Amino acid sequence: MKRILAFAVLLILIFPNFVIYSEAQDSILEEITEEIVEEYILALQNFGPRVTGSKACNDAGNYILQEFQKYVPARKIQWEYSSYKDYNIEGEIKGDEQIFIVCAHYDSVPNSPGADDDASGVAAVLVAARVLRNYNFEHTIRFVTFSGEEQGLLGSHEYARLARERNESIVGVLNADMIGYAKSENGRKRVIIQETNSSMWITNLSINISRKYEDIIGLEIYRERSQPYSDHHSFIRYGYNATFFFEYEFNPYYHSPQDTIDKIDLSYATRVARLIVGTLVEMAKLKEDYIKPSVHIEKPKSGYLYFNDKEIIPIRMNYSLIIGRITVEATAFDNESGIARVEFYLDGEIKKVDEEAPYNYSIDERILFLHKVEAIAYDFYNNTQKDEVRFIIFSI
Ligand SMILES: [Zn+2]
Repeated sequence: MKRILAFAVLLILIFPNFVIYSEAQDSILEEITEEIVEEYILALQNFGPRVTGSKACNDAGNYILQEFQKYVPARKIQWEYSSYKDYNIEGEIKGDEQIFIVCAHYDSVPNSPGADDDASGVAAVLVAARVLRNYNFEHTIRFVTFSGEEQGLLGSHEYARLARERNESIVGVLNADMIGYAKSENGRKRVIIQETNSSMWITNLSINISRKYEDIIGLEIYRERSQPYSDHHSFIRYGYNATFFFEYEFNPYYHSPQDTIDKIDLSYATRVARLIVGTLVEMAKLKEDYIKPSVHIEKPKSGYLYFNDKEIIPIRMNYSLIIGRITVEATAFDNESGIARVEFYLDGEIKKVDEEAPYNYSIDERILFLHKVEAIAYDFYNNTQKDEVRFIIFSI
């Protein structure tokens, strides 16, 4: 036992980042819950049939754009193909020139609310942007939802055609279309990945991820030859490597008014979403990080008087002087793995852990005379940096 422990410690010493990397991957996948997947499928279903070019389709596109923009930079890209005209919606986490894409289509056929086809896939794309927002990657990740799929893969065709024209280096594409239906025991534990000879390496990564996360993914992967029936095919057509994630049991309500969320197995849809995001993280590579983050307490600043949380005037002092309550505000940056959290301490005692910018902590206790606040920022590799301010306070 002791020997095993010594060996484990040795491993951690030799491969510290391997261990922390895996931790980051764990928390990313654990953040993908049935509740979030349900929220997205329901929101899209509630727009009604989202026929390309219709108001409902346009509204759904705007909803996706707004949802992306909560987490990553995003935009609408107009496409035109013969008499059709509509938008693809794209979010991005910028890395180097190698691009990895996770995609789905947000349009549906007339008369179908398209919960499985393909709100389920769009939910996976949205949740990917949501859980990856705080991380930095070696390579660029694009989150893309297409319209025009049901008219013949039009939105994705225009997207892939332009990418090829611009010579964009798209290395891998993960397309999700109908990933929420499972009825039998086999259906619940299996998923199909369609591939070509040149995208088999992506399926291999997915198989590894599914094994590694047996408890929260645990899907048997069925490999199939790629068929030209969803948006991955547009990328294959333009010479890019793409795979297609697809439920093992075909949804009998597909393209009907009964393609609704009550037919979806949310646990299944969530596990497939984790598989897709896990594969994406593996491909885009979390940045290794040996560099400390930066942190700075912006408020209170030395040499200023504050009254009830407001900066009043500069004063001739090396401390700040505070009368009434005060909110401590800090900024933190990390260009490698990103900021995981900022901890606030008052006189050495931890008071608040803030995981989202803006980072702040309100001192709301009775406190007099000289005190010290520290802010410690952590990046995702547990590198830390500290800033502190001393102040004289009268808050009763
Ligand atoms: Zn579809």
